[in-house]
Amino acid sequence: MTNIAAFLYLVSGVLFILALRGLSHPATSRRGNLYGMIGMGIAVLTTLVLATPNFGGFVLIILGLAIGGSAGAYIARTIAMTSMPQLVAGFHSLVGLAAVLVAASALYTPDAFGIGQIGQIHTEARIEMAIGVAIGALTFTGSIIAFLKLNGRMSGKPILLPFRHLINIALAVLIVLFIIGLAVTESHFCFWAVVALSLLLGILLIVPIGGADMPVVVSMLNSYSGWAAAGIGFTLGNLALIITGALVGSSGAILSYIMCKGMNRSFISVILGGFGGEMSGSAADTSDKTVKLGSAEDAAYLMANASKVIIVPGYGMAVAQAQHALRELADNLKKNGVEVKYAIHPVAGRMPGHMNVLLAEANVPYDEVFELEDINSEFAQADVAYVIGANDVTNPAARDDKSSPIYGMPILDVDKAKTCLFVKRSLGSGYAGIDNTLFYKDGTMMLLGDAKKVTEEINKAIAH
Ligand code: NDP
Repeated sequence: MTNIAAFLYLVSGVLFILALRGLSHPATSRRGNLYGMIGMGIAVLTTLVLATPNFGGFVLIILGLAIGGSAGAYIARTIAMTSMPQLVAGFHSLVGLAAVLVAASALYTPDAFGIGQIGQIHTEARIEMAIGVAIGALTFTGSIIAFLKLNGRMSGKPILLPFRHLINIALAVLIVLFIIGLAVTESHFCFWAVVALSLLLGILLIVPIGGADMPVVVSMLNSYSGWAAAGIGFTLGNLALIITGALVGSSGAILSYIMCKGMNRSFISVILGGFGGEMSGSAADTSDKTVKLGSAEDAAYLMANASKVIIVPGYGMAVAQAQHALRELADNLKKNGVEVKYAIHPVAGRMPGHMNVLLAEANVPYDEVFELEDINSEFAQADVAYVIGANDVTNPAARDDKSSPIYGMPILDVDKAKTCLFVKRSLGSGYAGIDNTLFYKDGTMMLLGDAKKVTEEINKAIAH
């Protein structure tokens, strides 16, 4: 039985790897998702049929699956696409909490977990439990803070406590000491001290991190939740959980690294926090600058007479749900012989891949969608850059202004196109809270209004 279970867990592990591979490209992502679902189905069924010790346990698992599964299905169906990052952060917090609860159960009923008797838990199990509970508790509170920040219930500004680095280092040292204490003595006091200190460290680590760094934080917490799950896997002796946890942990870490590269930030500086404190300050002083306002008719004229248009979607496109109108616009332009391409910045929107998902939903052909490094050199040959609901990812301050808090973040060079059409509702700032100098440049025409409405109006004007 154990061998069959181990084999089936291995099969699901392979399917999870294939899932990750499939998810790395929009064209194969559906297949990747399917592999993941089959893999998870096999893992859950194997656990139920081959690894559940008694009928009581079986009933409890089914009950848990029914309650958790229905809550998850309901939330996933009703959540708005724009709220996905906070949902992910919320779910990560549950993984962290689960790790703490499983470790606590293992501490109080070790025989049920096959890791020894009370007072005589095997040393390796104590170590796994101690590390798992520390990562789990930290993930739990850290993810709640990320959830509150992304949700707007807590300010996105970094909250900088005095001596925060010293406090964090002291907490980390204390946690390590209590982990050693737990491993050596199996003291319940040490266990709960690890939990309490890690909960506190989770809060203190995320509170100083500013809004603009949140994408990295979400993916970092994703990684932590994976390692916490792998920790529970060791405690439960469950191979599937160890494999899945390690996959989530390492892919989250790799994604964090890629995102740091995408924002030209070092991982360490993100973790240390403090970035994004300038929020609304620099966005305010726009009084002496002039902007050129345009109408849908102006935009239609410019685009219909262009030979190349590059579309740059951002968070505002998601808010307005303008992707379908946008695809229609692209279709109309293509009918007029205009070459149309889409440029996606790695952190456009509010989560990695946000724009790709929306464009795929509107059936935008994958071969028209390009990553920043593949398309940036083409803006210089484009007649029009149609920036729809994007802001920070086009801000030239990131390229030109050393004093800007986003200096060094790669941007889409929309200012190099002959005309830059900018669709947004106001001259307000984006997520990072920084004024965008592009609004005031000669080649820029602002089309103020809701992204979907403006795009529909342009469509109508082109049709006339
Ligand atoms: P931004 O947040 O910079 O800008 C979005 C713009 O959309 C706003 O300036 C807003 O302007 C406009 N907008 C909002 N609603 C509408 C609407 N209905 N119609 C038209 N426009 C609208 O978005 P970007 O995509 O350019 O940049 C992403 C930012 O988000 C970066 O700072 C990134 O660091 C951060 N981030 C990214 C995450 C990720 O993983 N991708 C996760 C978390 C944060 P106005 O109010 O004037 O309409």
